[in-house]
Amino acid sequence: MTLPPEDTLEPLERQQLAEMLEWHVAEGVDVALDEMPHDRFAESAQLAEASQSAAVAQPRRAPQVDAEPARPTQRVTAPAITAAPIAPDEAALSARALAAEAQTLEDLRAAMERFDGCALKRTASRLVFSDGMPGAKLMLVGEAPGGDEDRLGKPFVGRSGQLLDRMLKAIGLDRASVYIANVVPWRPPGNRTPTPQETAICMPFIQRQIELAAPDVLVCLGGPSAQTLLEQREGITKLRGRWFSYHIGNREIPALPTLHPAYLLRQPLAKRQAWQDLLAIRAKLDQGR
Ligand code: URA
Repeated sequence: MTLPPEDTLEPLERQQLAEMLEWHVAEGVDVALDEMPHDRFAESAQLAEASQSAAVAQPRRAPQVDAEPARPTQRVTAPAITAAPIAPDEAALSARALAAEAQTLEDLRAAMERFDGCALKRTASRLVFSDGMPGAKLMLVGEAPGGDEDRLGKPFVGRSGQLLDRMLKAIGLDRASVYIANVVPWRPPGNRTPTPQETAICMPFIQRQIELAAPDVLVCLGGPSAQTLLEQREGITKLRGRWFSYHIGNREIPALPTLHPAYLLRQPLAKRQAWQDLLAIRAKLDQGR
C-alpha cells in the first residue's frame, strides 16, 4: 500500500490507517508482500479460462513466407501470476517424484526451490531448508518456519531457536554439530499451523531429507512434527520421552518426540521434562559411539 506523505495526512485518516493496520496484524497479516493487492480468485479464474481457450484453439496455420513482418504486439500487463495452482493430489505426487530423484541434500534443496505445488511458497519470502551439519548424528525436525526463519532462510533462528541452542549446549552439542529442518519448509502466513493438505504435500521432501541426512538419532520438536513423522495421534505431552522407530528406506532410526522450545518459553515449568528428554538423547548418542 503506497501511503501519502505523512504531513498530508489528516489526524482522522491517520487514525483510520492505524486501525486498519492493527486489524491486519490481528488477522495474521504481518508481512507486506507487495505494493498492490492481488485478487487471487480473479487470477485463478483467468488461468482456468486461458487453459480452456488453449484447448479449443484453432489449429495453427503454416507461416506465410511473404507475409508482412509482424508488428511488435502491444504489451498487455497481466497480473503477476507466479505459479498455476496445482491440485493437491497432483502436487503431492510431483513432490514425491522430485524427492525420489534427489540423490543429495543439495539436489533436494534445488528440487524444492523449483517446486510450485505448495501454496505456502507464494506467501513465504524464501525456502527454509536446513541449518547445521548435514550428516550429523542428531537431526532435529520442527513444524514450520516462523517470521525470523522466513527472513533469514534458516530454521530455528528466532527466540525458540535461541532456547534450542541453549538446550543443545546443555548436552554438549551446538548448531554446527547437529542438523535441523522442518516438516514444512515455507512459512505459513501469520505463523498459522500448516493445514493437513500443506503438510501432506511437503511430506515427501522431509522424508527424503531425513533419508539423505541419515542421522543416528531423530528428534521431533513438538506435537505436529511428532504426529506427522511418527504417524501418531496422541498429543505431545503423551508422546514426549518415548522412543519410536522411524522407518525410512531400509533404515530404522530411533526417534524421540520432545517439547517444542516455543512451548517451553510459554511453560517454563515443562523444562524439567525437556531436560529428561535431552539426557535421553545424549545417552542414545553415546550408545552409538
Ligand atoms: N518453530 C519451528 O517449528 N520451526 C522453526 O524453524 C522455527 C520455529
